[in-house]
Amino acid sequence: MQEKKNTAGRQRAAAKQRQTAREPAAVAKKAAKRKSKTENAVAETVAAAAKKTVRAARKTAAKVKLPAQTAEKKSAKAPKLRIIPLGGLNEIGKNMTVFEYGDDMFIVDCGVTFPDDELLGVDLVIPDMTYVVQKKDKVRGVVLTHAHEDHIGSLPYFLRDVKAPIYCTALTAGMVSLKISEHKNLGKVKINVKKAGDKFKLGCFEIELIRVNHSISDAVGLAIKTPVGVVVMTGDFKIDPTPIRGEMIDLERFGRLGREGVLLLMSDSTNAERPGISMSERKVGESFDSWFKGCDRRIIIATFASNVDRLQQIINTAVKYKRKVAVSGRSMENILKVALELGYLDIPDKTLIELSQINRYPKDQLVVITTGSQGEPMSALYRMAFTGHRQIEVGKDDRIIISASPIPGNEKAISQMVNELFRRGADVVYNAIADVHVSGHACQEELKIILSLVRPKYFMPVHGECRHLLMHASLAQTCGVDSSRILIGDLGSVVELDGENAWQTSTVQAGRVLVDGYGVGDVGTAVLRERKLLSAEGIIVAETVMNRDLTAIVSGPDIISRGFIFTKEAEELTEEMRRLTKKVIEDCMAERRLRDRSVIKNRIRDELSEYLFRQIKRSPMVLPIITEVQ
Ligand SMILES: [Zn+2]
Ligand SMILES: [Zn+2]
Repeated sequence: MQEKKNTAGRQRAAAKQRQTAREPAAVAKKAAKRKSKTENAVAETVAAAAKKTVRAARKTAAKVKLPAQTAEKKSAKAPKLRIIPLGGLNEIGKNMTVFEYGDDMFIVDCGVTFPDDELLGVDLVIPDMTYVVQKKDKVRGVVLTHAHEDHIGSLPYFLRDVKAPIYCTALTAGMVSLKISEHKNLGKVKINVKKAGDKFKLGCFEIELIRVNHSISDAVGLAIKTPVGVVVMTGDFKIDPTPIRGEMIDLERFGRLGREGVLLLMSDSTNAERPGISMSERKVGESFDSWFKGCDRRIIIATFASNVDRLQQIINTAVKYKRKVAVSGRSMENILKVALELGYLDIPDKTLIELSQINRYPKDQLVVITTGSQGEPMSALYRMAFTGHRQIEVGKDDRIIISASPIPGNEKAISQMVNELFRRGADVVYNAIADVHVSGHACQEELKIILSLVRPKYFMPVHGECRHLLMHASLAQTCGVDSSRILIGDLGSVVELDGENAWQTSTVQAGRVLVDGYGVGDVGTAVLRERKLLSAEGIIVAETVMNRDLTAIVSGPDIISRGFIFTKEAEELTEEMRRLTKKVIEDCMAERRLRDRSVIKNRIRDELSEYLFRQIKRSPMVLPIITEVQ
């Protein structure tokens, strides 16, 4: 009895703790409101501070070790459901979530992020999957919600270490096969094609796919029946009553699940800051129509290759205005092929032409669909802007429509490309001046609809940066979810559920792994620091050839510099660096115990760095080389 009383008391205390932990949400909300008026930076700072407070408060809550400990003792034997986010929290990208119960484990999504400016030379960023790899024998499968890169991009890297069957819808399967075919040595990968409404078992879990709308066809949310209750994951979604292909999101199913009882809802937070509802994909079609109508120029449209519905709308409009369609960019060609094969695109005969044939048609009878909406340097539109494209020269006879919104971080590259296109005389239409793009993610009113249909016992906002998660948390509160039942997660922070209580007390290894070319994870902070230094300050190489026992200079020292100085004073500096290097070597030669390559090299490095900083206040990378000859 005493025990019970204590538990109740502790539960109240813990709830209070969590309450404190939640309050920053209000701060972030206010900050986000201000954001529209002032600057992003302000909101970000506040959100970061709020995040810190949440963490600190959560730590205290963990220390108190409340209902968790007691319940744990009581049911020490019964395993708990463990949900482990390895990506997609406090960031947008590389989504990956692990579900674990006893000896069964499965993964939802396996995505990438693209590197920001800080990650010099890095091609991709993937989640740290160590935790799953260590328990790979428990992995029963990977379930994919849709075919966006931030949900499937890491699969080839995952499948190198973990052989597990994949479960997804047909279009996702097509895109995944395409992706896997580009990576060798993965062996045979089993892809099980399912459709919305299907149910299947993965160990002790039963998974049901639920139709949702998104900026790619065939996207699904999940209802996961676990031994402790039902978990609903929306995946990326919006509510579009007039989608281009397929039906509206299965709200009825979400509602029915809600009535039957849902333990936990994990919902897309990308647009949690945006009030109202997202626009239907069909709006973009109407907008295309107005830009095609009466246009006597060639039309070039850049969009995300994966947005097959958008491609369909471009094609429909082209057909209406009797234009031929050509495609530029490898990913666009590949995806078009997959979508056509699987029946996700309808293209009337004789509409598509080869890019090499475009010169046979008058410009006002052409549409070119291209990649490059994000200003990616190797993309087709970028090459058109900077005259690096073999078949297309952009000029005053072109109307260019950029049917996408910038992914954060790409704004500058896009803006440079748009300026260049304008400079060439083209008429450029982009989202800032016209509705040529709509978001694929639910806005506040849509998020509330899902929350009130599903009526979960616990709620965990996912797929968003900290401020999106906290905004979504406060939306949930307005829908009646008690703040003590809202879980703000973090990468590697394990959420445990037993059907009654939820805990976030343990963590597993998580983070990011950088991919550069064929190298996975070999580029670390040290390499990045070097790359940054090289790009910012340049490099000085001081090369000397010495005899075997390091007692005489055979030739040199020679000073070579790259990305460093090209002025008149360079000669003087170079001469002085040569003199200094020589002096260091001579000093070392004079003293027996200093006749060591690494000692000499370190001394040269210190001497030259100090000299350069004193003279010109710069710190290039100094690389002393000592070559020995017989
Ligand atoms: Zn998506
Ligand atoms: Zn996503």
